[in-house]
Amino acid sequence: MIREVGSRSSGFPGRDAIAVSLLGSTGSIGTQALKVVRSEPESFEVAVLGAASSVDVLGAQAREFHPKVVVIADRSAAAKLAHEVPPGTEVLVGTEGLEQAAVLGDVVLNAVVGFAGLPVTLAALGSGKRLALANKESLIAGAPVVQRARQTPGAEIVPVDSEHCALHQCLRAGLGPEEVERLVLTASGGPFRGRARTELEGVTVEEALAHPTWSMGPKITVDSSTLMNKGLEVIEAHELFGIGYDRIQVVVHPQSVVHSMVEFSDGAVVAQLSEPDMRLPIGYALGYPRRLRRQFGAIDWREFSHLDFELPDRDVFECLGLAEQAGREGGLAPAWLNAGNEVAVAAFLHGRISWGEIAQVVAETLGAFDRAKVSEVADVIEADRRARLHAEQVVRHKERAA
Ligand code: NAD
Ligand code: MG
Repeated sequence: MIREVGSRSSGFPGRDAIAVSLLGSTGSIGTQALKVVRSEPESFEVAVLGAASSVDVLGAQAREFHPKVVVIADRSAAAKLAHEVPPGTEVLVGTEGLEQAAVLGDVVLNAVVGFAGLPVTLAALGSGKRLALANKESLIAGAPVVQRARQTPGAEIVPVDSEHCALHQCLRAGLGPEEVERLVLTASGGPFRGRARTELEGVTVEEALAHPTWSMGPKITVDSSTLMNKGLEVIEAHELFGIGYDRIQVVVHPQSVVHSMVEFSDGAVVAQLSEPDMRLPIGYALGYPRRLRRQFGAIDWREFSHLDFELPDRDVFECLGLAEQAGREGGLAPAWLNAGNEVAVAAFLHGRISWGEIAQVVAETLGAFDRAKVSEVADVIEADRRARLHAEQVVRHKERAA
C-alpha cells in the first residue's frame, strides 16, 4: 500500500508543499529538476523517483529525497535497488510500475526520453494530474490518445520544453487561440548551423553531441543537430496549443535567449527571454501558476548586445520538413516519424549509419506509413512497433551498402 503524499505546508502562502513525481530522474532534465527542488525545499516534496536502469544514482537520490516510491524500468535491477533505498520507500518495476507511480503526487514531471514515456503521460493525465511535460515524444507519437486523456477533469499539461514553456508564458498575455496570429518557435540551429550539405558528410558523433548553447541528453542533442528536435517541437506546439501548422513558424536564433514568441491578432509580438537554463522552465511547470525564486543569474545585456534571427536551411536540415509533413498528415504519421527517428538516432550513436543517413532513414520509414486507424493506445504501440521494424530494416540495408 502506497502512503499518502502531499500534506506538509510550503513556501507558497496558504498552500501545502507540492508533491512531485519525477520519472526520468537520473537524466539531464531529472537531475536539474532535483536542483530546483533543492533550491526551494520548503515548496516541494519528492513523492516518486524513477529511471530506466541506473540503480546507483537512483538509490543515492532516494536516500537524499526519501520518496514514497522508486520505479525502475529494468526488472533485473529491482532486487539490487531494493537494497539501496531507505526504509519506507517502495520499489516498483516495469511499465506497470511507471503507470502506478505516475498517478501519485500533485504534479508528474515526465522526464523519460523517447516513446518509453507514453505510459507516464497517459497515466498522469488519465488520473487528472498536472503533467509537467519534458517528454515531447509521448505527446507527438500518441497525440490522438493523449488528447483524449487530456480531457480528464483536473488533467493539465504545463510544458517543460523551453520553447513551449515560453509560448505558455506568452499566451497568458492574450485571451485565447482566437487572438493568436502566429507562434514563432526559436531554434539555436545546433552545432552545424550555416554548414553546406557537403561539409556535413563525415561529421562524427562527438561533433553532433557538441551543442553550442544547451547541455542535454544524447538523443535530444542529436535531434538538435539535425533540426528534428525543432520539427518535433512544431508538432508539439500544434498539439499543445491547437494552432494550425500554417501559423507556426521556425526561426533560428543562435544565442538561445529568446525562447519563443507569440504574435497576436493586433500585431503585438510577446517573447520570453532568459539565459538558456532548463531550471527556469522546469521550475515554471512544477510551481505553476506561482513563479519560483530565481534559480540562476539575470541576462547580462553587455553580453547580448545584439540578438540574431535567420530562417532555417530546410535543404540541409531535411528532418524539419519531414516532421512538418508528418504533423500535417496527422493520425499515426507522427508516431511513424518518431519511431523512425529514434531508431535512426540510436544507429547513428552506435556508429552504424552516418549523420546524413538519419534523415534518409526517417524519410524511408515515413514513406512506409500505412494510414492505419487509431482509436486506442494499442494502435499507437502497434504503429511504433511496425515503424521501428521498418526503420531497422532500412538501417541494416545502409550498413550492408557501406
Ligand atoms: P536523458 O537521456 O538525459 O535522460 C533520460 C531519462 O529517462 C533517464 O533518467 C533514464 O533513466 C530515463 N529512461 C529512459 N528510458 C526509460 C524507460 N524505458 N523507462 C523509464 N525511464 C527511462 O534525457 P533528457 O535530455 O533528460 O531528456 C528527457 C526528455 O526531455 C526527452 O523527451 C527530451 O526530448 C526532453 N527535453 C530535454 C531537454 C534537456 O535540456 N535535456 C530540453 C527539452 C526537452
Ligand atoms: Mg526545446
